[in-house]
Amino acid sequence: MSLTEVRAAIAAELERVGRPAEALSLIAVSKVQPLERVEAVLQQGHRVFGENRVQEAAGKWPELQERFGKVELHLLGPLQSNKARQAMELFDVIHSVDRAKLARALARLAGELGSCPDLFLQVNTGEEPQKAGVLPADLPALVEECRALGLPVIGLMCIPPVEEEPSLHFALLKKLADRHGLDKLSMGMSGDYISAIAQGATHLRVGSAIFGGREAG
Ligand SMILES: *Cc1c(COP(=O)(O)O)cnc(C)c1O
Repeated sequence: MSLTEVRAAIAAELERVGRPAEALSLIAVSKVQPLERVEAVLQQGHRVFGENRVQEAAGKWPELQERFGKVELHLLGPLQSNKARQAMELFDVIHSVDRAKLARALARLAGELGSCPDLFLQVNTGEEPQKAGVLPADLPALVEECRALGLPVIGLMCIPPVEEEPSLHFALLKKLADRHGLDKLSMGMSGDYISAIAQGATHLRVGSAIFGGREAG
């Protein structure tokens, strides 16, 4: 695949399900990719990228933005409170808020910095012990805490368990978002972004289908 093919597949599915193209943001997930591949996608005019680690992103995006202009950057991976300041300075959107302690750190820093990235709450829809994300049962309390702190929570994010049908998890995430009056849904990766579109995704996080596999050089 390539950026052009992914864009074409998205456009076809949007058309099929009758959703407008503006409803969807394609995040090109550039983590661990060789720089030439990232530059090639920038050269094609794409300006929305996702990274998993604050450190890795800090090592490449300031310089790339000097050369290519402003890029909308999304943090997708787990965030430690002690990296929160750096993350807030670098990223426009954070998809992985999943606990009250982190929410409080973000709120304190937002006060100091005078601004805050848009936030998604990550939900562990499969209730997998090793996976990040707030459990569905604990989501209402986290939403309430974030709202009390005045944080700009715009939606929910999930990563379905590898062995399960992703559309069930996408449907659950949509239901939870509706229940809390949140209208953005960060869901759909290289293997399942087409099915996420029909389920109401607003932010697709696509890496290997755009850039190629991450393991092979
Ligand atoms: C790596 C990653 C992606 C992209 O994965 P692909 O399968 O390469 O599309 C999306 N979201 C998160 C949270 C990731 O860590």
